[in-house]
Amino acid sequence: MKEIGFECPICGKYYFRDFEGLEECPVCNWAINIVQYDNHDFSEGSNTLSVNEYRIEYAVLSNKSTRKEAEKLKEEFRRKRISMHKEFRELKSGQIAPSCEEMHQQFVDVRLLYIEKLNQLLMISTKSKDVTYAL
Ligand SMILES: [Zn+2]
Repeated sequence: MKEIGFECPICGKYYFRDFEGLEECPVCNWAINIVQYDNHDFSEGSNTLSVNEYRIEYAVLSNKSTRKEAEKLKEEFRRKRISMHKEFRELKSGQIAPSCEEMHQQFVDVRLLYIEKLNQLLMISTKSKDVTYAL
């Protein structure tokens, strides 16, 4: 029987019925987002990462040899984002508040650094120079 709906673009193990509502994939926790579904490089919105970035994260998290390190990196990334939010909220008087663009750029930088580390893990996990992860 053919499944109705849309395959989760991250893990491919779950079918979303439609784009209505705020459904989350029970396998990988990706929150359905029509813009991201159409544009795999789009990283704004309900999900912290873009589809392509989540795929890298999912790959290293589901690989036995890289899972531990990937979980560590994911936690680091989570903590870093929390502390940045806190920092921006608790600016002391006299401190110059960064502009929205600067704040946004800092979050982007942290995200890209995280993805770079995940990519390095991914290269270790594939162990072959010929295998490049399809983006
Ligand atoms: Zn999924």
